[in-house]
Amino acid sequence: MQEESMQWLPALLAFISATLSCEGVDAAVIRLKNGNTLYGDIEEVSEQQVAVDIAGVGRLFLERREISSIEEESSAEGREEVVSPHSAEDHGLQLRKKAETRETVGLEISETIDQSYSGKYAQHRTYTAVLKSINAIREKAVATIQRRTGLGYPTTADIRLRFADYDGEERLTADTVSETTNGRTIQVITIYMELLITRQTDVQATTTHEFIHAFMRAQMGKKYQALPKWLREAIAVWGADQLEDKTWAVLGNAIFSGKPPFSTINGLESSHHDTSDYMEDALLFEFIVRRGNGMTRVKSAIEAIVAGNDYRETLQEATNSRSWTKLQDDLRAFSLGYVEDVLSRASYSRFQTTDDLLKARRYQEAIAKFQEWMQDNPRSFLIPEAWYRIAQCQYRLKRYEDASKSYQIILDDFPQHEHLQDDAQYMLAKSFEHLKERTKTEHAYRTLLRDYPYTAKDRLDDARSFLDNPRRDAQP
Ligand SMILES: [Zn+2]
Repeated sequence: MQEESMQWLPALLAFISATLSCEGVDAAVIRLKNGNTLYGDIEEVSEQQVAVDIAGVGRLFLERREISSIEEESSAEGREEVVSPHSAEDHGLQLRKKAETRETVGLEISETIDQSYSGKYAQHRTYTAVLKSINAIREKAVATIQRRTGLGYPTTADIRLRFADYDGEERLTADTVSETTNGRTIQVITIYMELLITRQTDVQATTTHEFIHAFMRAQMGKKYQALPKWLREAIAVWGADQLEDKTWAVLGNAIFSGKPPFSTINGLESSHHDTSDYMEDALLFEFIVRRGNGMTRVKSAIEAIVAGNDYRETLQEATNSRSWTKLQDDLRAFSLGYVEDVLSRASYSRFQTTDDLLKARRYQEAIAKFQEWMQDNPRSFLIPEAWYRIAQCQYRLKRYEDASKSYQIILDDFPQHEHLQDDAQYMLAKSFEHLKERTKTEHAYRTLLRDYPYTAKDRLDDARSFLDNPRRDAQP
């Protein structure tokens, strides 16, 4: 193919930044002066050169020495680095295909953000702040998806991002549905406000996750819904880089509700599927990577699934498995090992021994032991669980002032441990009620009713009953 030097590009190019992963450069973000952004895969060409492959446009060649200055980016993930901006002229940029097609990969970002939300948090500063940074969030989401799944922004479909107040039964962070009007299909992503306002939702991760559902649904149509739910969630959770968060959530929730943590590994195809399966789902792709097949295999497997190939055959091939049964067996062993490792790093067995003291109602001792455990394991994902146990002990000992402080710590410092939040908010109100702190109690119950409407009905009734009758005697 004839190599063409693109005259248009230097004029459009604002700067180039490349996103580096731990293994090295594998995805590039190219921002154009017209506000559009191109995303590409970085390929090794030679010791001197790398090529950026941009879907629909062609390949952009960069000299390796020209991307030598690397700056730390203070990103949330903390392990991405950004190559500092260069002017296009310095690069001698070359593209293989014609420039006319470039518009198709551009993102018309502002068009698809629905700013018509007028619910109970319309004036809330968290919502205003999210709106301000939504374009950056979307850009980063698209780059993460490209890097981890190979999926590109679909040029044939519209995606709309909207905000809404909770109106269902379940606690829901966000969801994605297709809407068709006048023959035009739109993927509508809804982010629910309650979990956003209380900081339980990680907006970046959630947007990325829902984009993956939307991208795949836009490309596959009805075939997407025909894929098993565990596979759809496996790709979304893994692609949005949420394995660690989901591990904490799933294991934390199991431990919180007294289930053995290993019971969370119950097979990909277990009959009932819900959010407690997300860790196991995503471990499928971690398994592909750790088997030494790397990100390339992950991307080609996802590409094959999107193209409509049989998902079992595709996944068998990606993991070099003899059969579907063998793959599931090996994955189960891998997942159990993963959980074992996570629990041992979190010092779970000592946590459990201490928890037995609570169960035996030896509250004083339990508090002391949990405090010791926290000092020895400051980075354990079970720290908020320990705070919750301490708060429970203090509450049972009628040390309501201390209990209220402990519940407040869970709300302030660990919002993303979501299974604890509504419980902590309710127990905070109960603690204030026992202390006969009328204003604080009213405020805490109002907050429960406004921000945690999905919590147990008897708690909501209790809150309403207090607000109707603030002089009632505190219930245990
Ligand atoms: Zn999902």
